[in-house]
Amino acid sequence: MFGQREIERRVRHMAGELSAFMAESNSREPWVVLGVLRGAFIFMADLVRHLTVPVELDFIRIQSYGQSDTSSGNITLLNEPALVMAGRSVLLVDDILDTGNSMVWLVNYLNNQKVENIRTCVLLDKPARRLVEVAADYVGFVVPPLFVVGYGLDMGQKYRQLPGIYQLP
Ligand code: 5GP
Ligand code: MG
Repeated sequence: MFGQREIERRVRHMAGELSAFMAESNSREPWVVLGVLRGAFIFMADLVRHLTVPVELDFIRIQSYGQSDTSSGNITLLNEPALVMAGRSVLLVDDILDTGNSMVWLVNYLNNQKVENIRTCVLLDKPARRLVEVAADYVGFVVPPLFVVGYGLDMGQKYRQLPGIYQLP
């Protein structure tokens, strides 16, 4: 679906937009880039290396029960961030926005932590699959409602290491 070069180009462009936005935001402290494990780890690693502003990095890990590999809306927190989120400006980075359940849960979690500012960023967006009304502030690619793997995205923990993004046959 997307090759290594195409992803690299898009991620670099997103990092440029994010750097400009962060530089202009008058956040007292550096933005916290908060990656959602495990799917976002490769995207986040590439994205942050193209940022031109100081940031602090952290991760959150959630699990959604239900059918494997898709979200049911029944979400539990597996690992909370190590940094104190209260008062911080947080860029939430996820692999893919599908039903929207995870994003809604995460934004609600961060609001409960009294973050000062939230922006959301996903590599992929499948708007046709949305079950709750939510949009990301930064989107890499809009994709059709197909199951995709690679570049951090898995099927049963496999294929995350693939450098491109593939639709499963
Ligand atoms: P949502 O809560 O928006 O339904 O789903 C978000 C999570 O479901 C993603 O972070 C990802 O882990 C998983 N997911 C949704 N669609 C896909 C897909 O096409 N491929 C893979 N590998 N995971 C997906
Ligand atoms: Mg997953």
